[in-house]
Amino acid sequence: MTVYLVGAGPGSVDLLTLRAATLLRHADVVVTDRLVDESVLALVPNGIEVIDVGKRPGMSHSQELINDLLISLASSLQSVVRLKGGDPFVFGRGGEEALALREAGIDVEVVPGVTSAFAAPAAAGIPVTHRDISWGVTVVTGHTKDGLEIDFRSLANPSLTLVILMGITHRHSIAQQLMEGGLSPTTAVAVVASAWTQQQRIMRTNLVQLPAVTVPTPAVVVVGEVANLDVGSLSDLVLQVS
Ligand code: SAH
Repeated sequence: MTVYLVGAGPGSVDLLTLRAATLLRHADVVVTDRLVDESVLALVPNGIEVIDVGKRPGMSHSQELINDLLISLASSLQSVVRLKGGDPFVFGRGGEEALALREAGIDVEVVPGVTSAFAAPAAAGIPVTHRDISWGVTVVTGHTKDGLEIDFRSLANPSLTLVILMGITHRHSIAQQLMEGGLSPTTAVAVVASAWTQQQRIMRTNLVQLPAVTVPTPAVVVVGEVANLDVGSLSDLVLQVS
């Protein structure tokens, strides 16, 4: 009767909230996305169905189908957990799903998660707002739903950190626009792929070199002077215990 819209965090189960863990252990069914780590799904008791509606090339479930599935599951089950990578409201379509469920008269509870927008830089030891060099951080997608170009020129500001999600495909045009907008070609860039998972990879480069970097996905791109920093992080520790 309730759909719990739950953030799974960026990877390792160590970064899951206690509320999320409790809900997963007591779920009647779990509907998950592709980016959710195995270590998180391992909390689901044996015998409870886990439905993967993740988008894969040639096999995508439309948002409408997912909404309909959640509505029909909620009409017969007490606790439907809708699990999403990172935070459900950060580029995860969690808002769309919550609205569709509310419109259908279904109770929704949102459980925030640790978003990759901040956890991926942290895995590389990057404080996104180091006081001396950055007075803010902008989290932005590299492309929109309908393929519209985002105006990255207007986001070029040497005193701000940019964290770009889903930015790998368009990294050439993003770097180009940021330089046209006034950022120096030597502006520091860090790319963090599969943060907080066994496949984590960190690459350091700069704006002009970014298009030439080969990057596995999923990855977050950090642009700005903070991307030069590595204050150390606990990620090795977390990866060992997971
Ligand atoms: N709701 C998610 C974001 C979904 S959009 C969150 O809050 O993290 C999917 C994008 O998130 C990917 O294209 C990538 O840019 C980023 N992403 C998700 N998990 C990641 C991870 N473990 N490491 C690096 N980037 C990740």
